[in-house]
Amino acid sequence: MERVFLCDVDGVLADFLGAVLEGVHGKTGVAHSRQEVTQWSIADSIGVPKELIARIACEKGFCRELKVLPGARELVDMLRKYGEVYFVTSPFWSSQYWMYERNHWLWREFEADSNEIVHTSAKHLIRGDMLIDDKPSTVEMWAMSQPVTDPPVPPAVLWYQLYNQGFVQDPRLNVVTARSWEDVETIIRRMP
Ligand SMILES: [Mg+2]
Repeated sequence: MERVFLCDVDGVLADFLGAVLEGVHGKTGVAHSRQEVTQWSIADSIGVPKELIARIACEKGFCRELKVLPGARELVDMLRKYGEVYFVTSPFWSSQYWMYERNHWLWREFEADSNEIVHTSAKHLIRGDMLIDDKPSTVEMWAMSQPVTDPPVPPAVLWYQLYNQGFVQDPRLNVVTARSWEDVETIIRRMP
């Protein structure tokens, strides 16, 4: 059976953070750098209200216009060499445009069609041989929900970003950090 790779979108393939910072600059006149965002919450990192971030992300065209992150195409191409890729992405639920634009974006950038896209925040319910995600709590929950197997559970891969570097890993969970698509390929090659 083909391997199943579950790949998050924002922060792994799509530059959500860059677009939010651009939006904040446009609305407040204050430019913030990516280096300022050292915690999961962008609002807390740069000291703006959460509502401002939500307003920016809910605008028509926001999701459609996200830039592809460096290395993202290489990551997806590499994963497709080893198995099937499913894009598992949390919808920005208060946006009326998000899911439509995300589908369109995934088709445009990665030729993903509807049976390769899962919109959910409950990623721990999705089965696969690997999850790649930049959100520590999601990676951890996914790792925890895997059945105990021999050989051991599939790897949950935390996609390294400045804002998740403080994450302290539970050593009992099969969570590994990757900083590049090459790191992910190394992990795949070690899989049983
Ligand atoms: Mg993400």
